[in-house]
Amino acid sequence: MVVVMKREATEAEIERVAEKVREAGGEAFVSRGAVHTIIGLVGETAVFRGLELESLPGVDRIIQIGKPYKMVARALHPEPTFVRVGPAVVGRGMFTMIAGPCAVESEEQAMTAARAAKDAGASILRGGAFKPRTSPYSFQGLGRAGLEILAACREETGLPVVTEVLEPRDVELVATWADALQIGTRNMQNFALLKEVGATKKPVMLKRGLSATVEEWLMAAEYIAQRGNSGIILCERGIRTFEPSTRNTLDLGGMAVAQLESHLPVIVDPSHAMGHKDLVAPMARAAVAAGADGVMVDVHHDPGSALCDGPQALRPEELQALTKELHALATALGRQIG
Ligand code: PEP
Ligand code: MN
Repeated sequence: MVVVMKREATEAEIERVAEKVREAGGEAFVSRGAVHTIIGLVGETAVFRGLELESLPGVDRIIQIGKPYKMVARALHPEPTFVRVGPAVVGRGMFTMIAGPCAVESEEQAMTAARAAKDAGASILRGGAFKPRTSPYSFQGLGRAGLEILAACREETGLPVVTEVLEPRDVELVATWADALQIGTRNMQNFALLKEVGATKKPVMLKRGLSATVEEWLMAAEYIAQRGNSGIILCERGIRTFEPSTRNTLDLGGMAVAQLESHLPVIVDPSHAMGHKDLVAPMARAAVAAGADGVMVDVHHDPGSALCDGPQALRPEELQALTKELHALATALGRQIG
């Protein structure tokens, strides 16, 4: 159950609703939007009905939602959410290109990739300082030093930075350096981590879990929104199927479902989905044609020497050509570059 407050509702009126719910043994999560404040109720629906919340001052309406997700549901919040990452914007009707190295390996490598992203016309720089690797013997990322390098790349190129955070205890550190926090596929249901990033004011890019349904993905986003952070970008990055010829199976259908079900922007990462550089461009084009709100790709000046995911990295000139194509395609489809 969700309480939608009137546009002109005062803080005292919002607090009164929340207080009444708490007194009745429920929990109330207040989410302040640009236009309306909404309050998500957790607890017994029958008890809440008895409170007659609709008669309280400042309350616009009560919505009973049939879907398990509420705050991220389009049914509740039909206007699209635009997420600002530094000067860049990600949202419906726009197209935002994100590019950068899979992992920050050194200042020189990251800076080369950041310049390539900037020159190609990308709007956001990606790069991992904390890497979730399948093998504990693989390169785990530079950690804090990697964050400092990313900040230097931002300084040099002006591009805002999105980078992954792996653990709740690192959220504060990563949030002080990054413009947006990435939750990787392996952590999509790390609820402690979701709550922690939900408590920050930084935008969050939430990648779809390796084996997660769209509903589970949206429920994970709900954890972040429930903590008061509605700056969420969903990222489809391929799921596990029986098909071994690509690293994962890019689920553009799932991307479209997420867009239909949610007001949040949904982008696509064809690099991690396909795992091979020759397959990145076709799926990036398909993603734009299908309506994705952005695309995120890996770039490396020397993929053969990359410490992480080299086979899927584009070279700078390939990124340049792809970005040009995607921008042309998005513009032809009437979208703004974010
Ligand atoms: C990444 O983007 O660097 C990454 C690790 O992606 P995923 O979580 O989708 O595997
Ligand atoms: Mn990677």
